[in-house]
Amino acid sequence: MSIHMMTGLKCVRCGSEHPLCPIYSCPACGGILDVVYDYERIESKWRRGEVEEDDLLPLPASERVTIGEGNTPLVKADRLARRLGLETLYLKCEFANPTGSFKDRPVSMGVSMGVRFGQKRIIVASSGNGAAATSAYSARAGLQAVVLVPESTPAEKVKQSLAYGAKVIRVGGPYSNSFALAKEVGEKYGMFNVTSTFINPYTMEGDKSVAFEMHRQLNGRVPGLVYVPIGAGPLLVGIHKGYEELKKLGRASAVPRMAGIQAEGCSPIARAFLENRSEVESDPNPSTIAGGISDGLHGYAQDGTYVLECIRRSGGYSDYVNDDAIREAQGWLARDEGLFVEPSSAVCIAELKRSLESGRVSASETVTAILTGHGLKDMQRVETGGEAPLIPKRAESLVDLLEQDSRE
Ligand SMILES: [Zn+2]
Repeated sequence: MSIHMMTGLKCVRCGSEHPLCPIYSCPACGGILDVVYDYERIESKWRRGEVEEDDLLPLPASERVTIGEGNTPLVKADRLARRLGLETLYLKCEFANPTGSFKDRPVSMGVSMGVRFGQKRIIVASSGNGAAATSAYSARAGLQAVVLVPESTPAEKVKQSLAYGAKVIRVGGPYSNSFALAKEVGEKYGMFNVTSTFINPYTMEGDKSVAFEMHRQLNGRVPGLVYVPIGAGPLLVGIHKGYEELKKLGRASAVPRMAGIQAEGCSPIARAFLENRSEVESDPNPSTIAGGISDGLHGYAQDGTYVLECIRRSGGYSDYVNDDAIREAQGWLARDEGLFVEPSSAVCIAELKRSLESGRVSASETVTAILTGHGLKDMQRVETGGEAPLIPKRAESLVDLLEQDSRE
């Protein structure tokens, strides 16, 4: 049975095909399941001039649980580009989504499919952004949400999720523990798991809309490189799949090279790439200020291998940066361009600077970087670059202070 333009699910490892239903891995081999569309039907429809991006998503907009996700700004960042030594830099402002991160795209799709399948309860494991998104979209759909987050999740993200009325539970240890628990308990109690790694085949489809929008916003020009912060990496794979589909349907001239950037303290995919390995090994003890991408893939390293293969197929690369470089890049984005993002979003800019200096990336390259989450979501570790002094209501005090500043 097909739904909208989807015809079924296909295992990326063994190639076996499966019907559209609530399912989280290949029953034959345990591999990741990928959504297959009726591309012939879409192609003939598009050839008639009826081009709709929704044809490449699990459900049309009218059948989705939505609070206005997507259509985020693509900002040309000239001042930051000059600082980095790059001619053309675009920033996709995913923090402008309704709950403040790109996760609204996959979660909207996941919750919508849950409603479509008649599911009553939603469960998610998240490092925080997916938690807030799942809480909001479940509230919007009138469904109960159980949200598992690692103990290190910033208070802002926990409170945001609680505010939407979700049952938020902190799980001891790294993110992988929350992931394992959501998988086990979700299956046992028939809860629809919208964890936006690769476990729910429908969620990643929502990430493709980033590619469709960028393609429109750049008037059909394909960037040479697209930088994506990666934990498990579904956003990177989703953007790549989106461009591949546009190319297959004759709408895009090429598919960009994908740069998947990690934090040094949690870099299983980058290390596998740099060491030329064919398989990713999990990291059981990740540690970084970039909480949104602190996913050691413990127990599901195959997800990382899938992302690694996608990066290699695109002709791109993967690398990591340390926490100091991340903090510095977070400051550049805010002070050069007025874009306040969480640490995870800054990894791309930090790495891009290094690759421009080393010559890995040329200054004439057209680059787009995805700014995944808002700075307000993780305020404890932000480098503000200054204090806010307190003065009495006296003009001399203010003037003294400003003159002192101008002398410095
Ligand atoms: Zn399989």
